[in-house]
Amino acid sequence: MKKKKIPLYVKILIGMGLGLIWGLSAQALGLVEFTRDWIKPWGDIFIRALKLIAMPLIIFSLIDGVSNLSDVSKLSRIGGRTIALYLMTTVLAVALGLVLVNIIRPGKLLSEERRESLRATYASELDEKVVTAHELGGSGPLQPVVDIVPDNFFNSASSNSNMLQIIFFSILFGVAMILTKSEKIAPVKAFFDGGNQIVLKIVDIIMLYAPLGVFALLASLNIDGELMMALGTYSLNVVLGLAIMIFLVYPSILRIFTRMKPLTFYKGILPAQMLAFSTSSSAATLPVTMDCVEKNLGVAEEISSFTLPLGATINMDGTAIHQGVSAVFIAQAFGIDLTLTQQLTILLTAVLASIGAAAVPGAGIIMLVIVLEAVGLDPLGLALILAVDRPLDMMRTVVNVTGDATVSVVVANSENSLNTPTGEPAAPVS
Ligand code: ASP
Repeated sequence: MKKKKIPLYVKILIGMGLGLIWGLSAQALGLVEFTRDWIKPWGDIFIRALKLIAMPLIIFSLIDGVSNLSDVSKLSRIGGRTIALYLMTTVLAVALGLVLVNIIRPGKLLSEERRESLRATYASELDEKVVTAHELGGSGPLQPVVDIVPDNFFNSASSNSNMLQIIFFSILFGVAMILTKSEKIAPVKAFFDGGNQIVLKIVDIIMLYAPLGVFALLASLNIDGELMMALGTYSLNVVLGLAIMIFLVYPSILRIFTRMKPLTFYKGILPAQMLAFSTSSSAATLPVTMDCVEKNLGVAEEISSFTLPLGATINMDGTAIHQGVSAVFIAQAFGIDLTLTQQLTILLTAVLASIGAAAVPGAGIIMLVIVLEAVGLDPLGLALILAVDRPLDMMRTVVNVTGDATVSVVVANSENSLNTPTGEPAAPVS
């Protein structure tokens, strides 16, 4: 009798469920220490493996993808569209967050005592975050642009936080390959083509370990029920914004610009979403996002290899919503009524902060310091929301990854580079 194979995403779901159950019962049964010492490391191994492959993946797939483009004008067209769409969705996301938080007004629900105790509990952890944010924001206005250009390839490639620099170099390399009309580069092309296939195979191998990895990650989260309740309305506010993006905004964008059914899209992207949820890192999820978008959604590699690494780095719609809601929530909790100009400042800085946030766990909350300071709010306000940040981070990362995939599908469709899973090209709607 033939044994039926359980699909990988089902195994990952089971791993997540069991991990959550373990995490909750570990606290009740006093197994927190045991979990930290003996279970969490297996999750760390999983994240390390994903991060390990991120840099080679960007280099190989971007150089392979760009050098496969027929000409440079195609690249600039794709680039322009991608960046415009990324910006548009991010602005929309912050605006949505701001509208919701002004209607729901969760900050008015906190009692003075509660605020004080939260401040006291988190003050020291907070100092660290404020220092990091200042280090990040301490240079001139054009510094982020300067930072995109690396001054040494090996230095950049040695840290995952330099992804934009590596993207820059890989695009430059790929463009030079297109422009070099010589037979001599044929072996180089073959090298990157073959290397790319190998890297993708490594991703498949790592993913076999995913069910155990996500179990260990979720099992070692300390979820504090009481605080979750205290900050419930704020969290629900963020979650509502994220849900509107997932269930309304992205499906509408897909409907307007492509013929892909939202259900097809979500079925295809689900493994990446689950991983985003478990790892809280769009960078760690990137290999799987690329895999899903190419294999399940039919986006051509020349598009996905460009749009997705860029999106993982600069397009964070979930983070943007979170920044908007959190800044206003903190103002409300401090009893400060923000003017329209201040809210517009939040909109602008939150867009920039989400672009600047690294695609790693907790990056969004560090960047929030900059948003708060832009409107003159005490960064200590972060203490109010620190306790619930991890679960919200997990959810906003799902939105970040989904936003990247949506834009990738739209751009592929506009270039006639989208093959539906059944194989027919999905022509743009005229
Ligand atoms: N964890 C998020 C990500 O990697 C960033 C954030 O903290 O909002 O996409």
